[in-house]
Amino acid sequence: MDKILKYYPFVEPGAGVDAECIFCKGKGCKICGGTGWMELAGAGMIHPTVLKNGGIDPNEYSGIAWGAGPERMAMLKYGIENIRAFKSGDLKFLEKF
Ligand SMILES: [Zn+2]
Repeated sequence: MDKILKYYPFVEPGAGVDAECIFCKGKGCKICGGTGWMELAGAGMIHPTVLKNGGIDPNEYSGIAWGAGPERMAMLKYGIENIRAFKSGDLKFLEKF
């Protein structure tokens, strides 16, 4: 796993979980953006400015934002090279499973 502390622009602090890219074995390729890692999930405390801009008083409220990428986990498990395939509606892609 890569470092757990992450930078996301709308949270502070941020944390995330990465897995080594199975396509390049951590060397870096176009699928992982040259990093050697694929981000699986991220989270963090919502930045007060984000709350304020949404009309929420950051002195009264706080929040946690999080998200996970099940498509990324499926990419790693099944060796799918392009994440866009999940949203393509292509039956040939779906019939593989
Ligand atoms: Zn890679």
